[in-house]
Amino acid sequence: MSDAADRLSDVRAKIADAATRAQRRGDDICLIAVSKTHDAAAIRPLIAAGQRHFGENWVQEAATKWPELRAETPDVKLHLIGQLQSNKADEAVALFDAIHSVDRSSLVQALAKSCDKADRQPQLFVQVNIGDEEQKGGCKVPDLAALLAEAKGAGLIISGLMAIPPADIEPAPFFALLDELAERNGLSERSMGMSGDYETAVMLGATHVRVGTALFGARG
Ligand SMILES: *Cc1c(COP(=O)(O)O)cnc(C)c1O
Repeated sequence: MSDAADRLSDVRAKIADAATRAQRRGDDICLIAVSKTHDAAAIRPLIAAGQRHFGENWVQEAATKWPELRAETPDVKLHLIGQLQSNKADEAVALFDAIHSVDRSSLVQALAKSCDKADRQPQLFVQVNIGDEEQKGGCKVPDLAALLAEAKGAGLIISGLMAIPPADIEPAPFFALLDELAERNGLSERSMGMSGDYETAVMLGATHVRVGTALFGARG
């Protein structure tokens, strides 16, 4: 396997190509390196190669790994991309620069309280259950407008939407739908696209792509 710097420049080049094809600027797309299950030793080479945005799925894992890495590189930005329990809202608000998984009323209320207490608000995305799948987190499409209104009423600023399309089927229609929902609700950010489909996502309007395997190799 090639080294971290090669994998990073390969992913960046593919993002830039996809952006060019869609008449967008590659620099406008935030590449989030998803480092869940990978330890500090695996993450450091990517930081050394210039990567600054990282994604984690679990508050506990991030809290163990990142304080030390952050002390070494203070301008690193951390994104929570996994489901968040309301009782971890305080910790998530303290630790993360962005939270991509706001998906229900109880969590909106918990985050509003935590942000108030901390006097700090991470960038927030509402996760949409774009394929209407039972087992997946995310707000149902018909409930989106109400959840956005509730967040606004609670004093939270929502920047955009996040989605994980159903596995094993063509993701493009789901990316297009997320883009349309963001547009309709006046939101500028779209967090969509993973290792297998980030180029398609970029062509369909992604502002944030979340790439793990293509940067780190397979998770153990
Ligand atoms: C793990 C994960 C990713 C990264 O997936 P890869 O296929 O390894 O790129 C992206 N988004 C979410 C929400 C994830 O849980």
